[in-house]
Amino acid sequence: MSFSEVGEAAEQKPILLIPMGTVEQHGPHMPVNADNMVAEFVASRAAEQTNAVWAPGVNYGCSDIFRNFPGTISIGHDTLAKLLEEICEGYIQSGFRRIIFVNNHGGNEIVVERMARILRKRHGMLVGSIYPWQLGYALMQDQYDDVAKAYGHGAEPETSAMLAMFPEDTTWERLETGTFHDFQGWQPTGYAKVKIAGQSVPGTIYFESDDIAANGVTGDGSGATKERGDVWIERVVGFAVAFINQFDETTRDQPWAQAD
Ligand SMILES: [Zn+2]
Repeated sequence: MSFSEVGEAAEQKPILLIPMGTVEQHGPHMPVNADNMVAEFVASRAAEQTNAVWAPGVNYGCSDIFRNFPGTISIGHDTLAKLLEEICEGYIQSGFRRIIFVNNHGGNEIVVERMARILRKRHGMLVGSIYPWQLGYALMQDQYDDVAKAYGHGAEPETSAMLAMFPEDTTWERLETGTFHDFQGWQPTGYAKVKIAGQSVPGTIYFESDDIAANGVTGDGSGATKERGDVWIERVVGFAVAFINQFDETTRDQPWAQAD
């Protein structure tokens, strides 16, 4: 859009989708830009089917846990918080009040929530968030015989989703499987989860990725197919569309949603 088109769009008080991701390792077979590519894909597809427009993405994020892999560029919480604040205030000045982040990276979540709470206090806004990778994990479980084995960073359902969305950027021959391995006497079950002897509930230890997953991959993506990826797209975009429509209905007439 040109500036005049943005101004006209803002007068319609649309929902603004802000895609977010990061630049980080995603296994040897996926590009370091994967989180951003998928955030933009989901935002643009959902916008086509709803009363929403999507902004250029916030493409660098908080990926400290992957910092030892080449190509991972982490900007840290304080920097991202400041960047998001300036971007959101810019859109507010341009007349947008209804914001949903399409944040596709877990390390950014804490900063997204902090931003949402600032905008609530400062402008009365209710801010939403959509996390495509996480939705895929939740919505795709019926597609696998062994979810625990297949699922993971750089594994499934991410690899199937990438094969369906960006086949030319997914280097199938480089795919590796991976699992968590012990570190300094701890048995990890997640990036910040460990088994505690005799307990059914895990404990919390904050590892870096290469402490506990040497190749950066934490699952078995070898069963990935484009067909599964198509299911991922249908379900994740379907959820995003339903969420945006409900957000539209409930927020349209609220006083905070009217630009001054
Ligand atoms: Zn990520």
